[in-house]
Amino acid sequence: MDTIDTMELKNSMEEFVERYIDGVMKELDMCTCQKCRFDVMAIALNNLPPLYTVTRNGALFNKVKSMESQSGAKIISEITKAAKIVMKDAKHYEKKEE
Ligand SMILES: [Zn+2]
Repeated sequence: MDTIDTMELKNSMEEFVERYIDGVMKELDMCTCQKCRFDVMAIALNNLPPLYTVTRNGALFNKVKSMESQSGAKIISEITKAAKIVMKDAKHYEKKEE
């Protein structure tokens, strides 16, 4: 009998965006509250292609890792674009400053 592995279907793009988002937001010196962070994530993820993969025991397969190094620059540029949209929508940001 094989050991039962924990298989999981997930959108790896989400993980990549999460990995880069804090650095990008910090660099832009914008509000980094959870709402703004999620807003940036949502916009970036809607503009990036999904990357569904099956992981075993939470480990990404090497294929996905090489995908990441290929698309790293694109991911960062989409996060930057999304962050600028959220910054422009200043309602929430200004509320925080009051
Ligand atoms: Zn905020």
